[in-house]
Amino acid sequence: MSEPGTILPDPTTPVAAVVPTATAMSRLRPTGARQVRLTGGFWAERAATNREATIPAGFEQLRSVGTLHNFRLAADAAREGYRALGLMLDKPFPFLDSDVYKWLEGAAWALGDSPDREIQAMADEAIGLVEAAQRPDGYVNTFVQVLAPGTEYVDLAMGHELYCFGHLLQAAIAWHRALGDDRLLVVAERAIASVARALGPGAREEIDGHPEIEMALVELYRVTGERRHLELAAAFLDRRGHGILGSGRHGRAYWQDHLPVREAPSVVGHAVRQLYLDCGAVDVAVELGDQVLLDAVHRRWQDMVASKMYLTGAVGSRHRDEAFGDPFELPPDRAYAETCAAIASVMLAWRLLLATGDPACADVIERTMYNGVLASLSSDGTSFFYVNPLQRRTHRTWGDPGTGERARWYACACCPPNLMRVIGSWPQMLATWDDRGVQLHQYASVEIQAGAVRLAMETAYPWAGEVAVTVLASPAEPWELSLRVPAWCETATLRDGNGVVDEPAAGGRPIVLRRPWKAGDTVTLTLDMPARVTEPHPRADAIRGCVALERGPLVYAVETADLPSGIVLEDLALPDLGPGAAGVVPNDRPDLGTSIVGLAVPGVAAGGRVQAGAIPYFAWSNRDAAGMRVWIPREAR
Ligand SMILES: [Zn+2]
Repeated sequence: MSEPGTILPDPTTPVAAVVPTATAMSRLRPTGARQVRLTGGFWAERAATNREATIPAGFEQLRSVGTLHNFRLAADAAREGYRALGLMLDKPFPFLDSDVYKWLEGAAWALGDSPDREIQAMADEAIGLVEAAQRPDGYVNTFVQVLAPGTEYVDLAMGHELYCFGHLLQAAIAWHRALGDDRLLVVAERAIASVARALGPGAREEIDGHPEIEMALVELYRVTGERRHLELAAAFLDRRGHGILGSGRHGRAYWQDHLPVREAPSVVGHAVRQLYLDCGAVDVAVELGDQVLLDAVHRRWQDMVASKMYLTGAVGSRHRDEAFGDPFELPPDRAYAETCAAIASVMLAWRLLLATGDPACADVIERTMYNGVLASLSSDGTSFFYVNPLQRRTHRTWGDPGTGERARWYACACCPPNLMRVIGSWPQMLATWDDRGVQLHQYASVEIQAGAVRLAMETAYPWAGEVAVTVLASPAEPWELSLRVPAWCETATLRDGNGVVDEPAAGGRPIVLRRPWKAGDTVTLTLDMPARVTEPHPRADAIRGCVALERGPLVYAVETADLPSGIVLEDLALPDLGPGAAGVVPNDRPDLGTSIVGLAVPGVAAGGRVQAGAIPYFAWSNRDAAGMRVWIPREAR
C-alpha cells in the first residue's frame, strides 16, 4: 500500500486500466489506482498476498518454464531451444509471450501501489528481454521469430500474434499510467506500427482468431491521442462476423465470426474470446459515440447474466471448446468456468458500468470477484485453478480436468498472470464520479479521491454489512453521494449523526444522498446480511432440487472436511430451511484464515440429523482434496 499523501493531486488523470476520454459517451468516470488507497481489511490482505507471494512466484515460473528464456532466444535470433511446458499439435503453444505481458501489467499496478525492489528488478529483467527481442521493424513474437520465421501474420486464426500484442499494449499502458515508465510503450508503438503495415488501412483486411487487441488499441489511442489506433480497433471489430476466419475445429461461433458484432444476439463460443471482444466493442462504442454498438453489447451481457452465468459469476460451461453452453446449461460438476473467463466478465461489466451506469454491472462485478475469480487462487497465493467447478465429487477419476487441485503453473498459463493483474487493478473498480457527485460501487476500507471529493470508507465487508463513510475533503457546493445497495440485500439503512436519513432501501438501486458536505461528516450504511437460501433457476436442469447458501456477496460451499466423519458429501441433504435459512448460524473460521466467517448448517444424512459446516466458496480446496459442493440437494419428502 502507498504511504499517506501519495494520492495524486490532480484527480482528473486517473491511473487506471480503462480511462475513457473526456469526450467519450461514458456515463461515469473512473477514479484510478492512485486515487484509491486500500487502508486495511479484506482487499488489503489480498493486495499484500498478490505483491508478496503471487507476483514473485509467477516470475519464478516464467523463468523456470522458459517463457522468459524464449525472449532471449528471439533476441539472439536463435532457431532452436524454444521451451514450453506443453505442446499443441506437437508444437508449443504460440501465445506464451502473453504470460510475460500480463505478469508485467500486474507488476505495474503493484509497483504503482508501493515500490518493491524485488518486483522492480524482476520487471526490469523482463522489460529488457522484450526490448531486446523486438526486431528493427517493430515485430516481436518469440514463437514466430524462433520457430517459424517468415510466417509473420500468416496464421491469424490460431497464431495469437495480435492477441499477444494486445497484452503487450495493456502492460505498456499500465507502466505508463502507474509508473510514468515508457520503456514498454516505445516497444508497443513500434509493434503496432508493424501490425498496421500488415493489416491496417490499405493492407490485408483480416483479424485475429482471439480478440484482445481491440480494447488495447483503444487504450493506446487514449494514451497517445493518435486516432489511427482507435480506427484500427474499430476496423478489427467491423471485419468480424463475416466468416473470414473460416470454421476451424469448432465452427465460426467459436471465435465470434458467425455474426457481426452489432447483430449477434447472445454470447456464444469461446467465452474469453467473446468477452474480450465485447470489452473492445464497449471501448470503441463510447469513443465513437456508437449507441447501436453499445446497446448490442449491453443486451448480450444481460442475456449472459440471465441465462449463462453460474451462481459464482463464472461463465463458459463447456470443456470441449472452452465455450458458453446453451442457456441454463450450467452443470456444477462439469463446469469449465475458466478463471480468465470470470476475469474477462469483470472487465466487461466494469466497462459497461462506466458507459451506462447500470448498477446491475456492479452486482456482477461483486459476485464474480468474491467467488468466481478469488476461488482460483490458493490461500497462500501461489497456486491456481484454471477450471472452477461448483462441485468436486468425493470419489472421482484421477486427472479428469476440473476435478483436481490447484497447480503452481500451467502449460497454457493464461489464468495465473491474469489474476495478478485483476487483483492489482481491483482498487480502480470500487468508485466512480461524475458532475453530480461520487458513486461507491464496492465496499472496502479505502481512501478515495473522486473529483474534488475525498472520502474514507471503513468496513469489515464482506464479513459484516456496516460501512462507515467519512468525508475528508469537499467542495462548498452540494453534491450527491451514491451508495450501491447490492441486489442480494433486502434491507439497507443509511444513518448519520442525526439518525436514519432515508427510507430503508431494497437491493438493486442505490441510495443517493444530495447535500452540502463538509470534512468530518460521516454516514453509515448498514446492509443486512443474514445467511440466505438460494433457489436455482427452474430451467437449470443439473441443479434442480438443490439449493445454495449465500451470505452477503459470498457464495458458500460444503467440503468433506466440514462433515462429521463417515458422512459422504454426496449423501448430505438440507431440510427445508425457508428463504431465511433458519438454523444456519455464522461462525468464525480462524482455521481457514484471517476473519473468515463460515456457516453452521443443519443437514440430513445417513437417515439422521447432522451438523455440517459451510465455508466461503473462494476458500475451498485449501485442505484435503476431498469433496465439495455449492448446490446441495433438498431433503427428499
Ligand atoms: Zn485462462
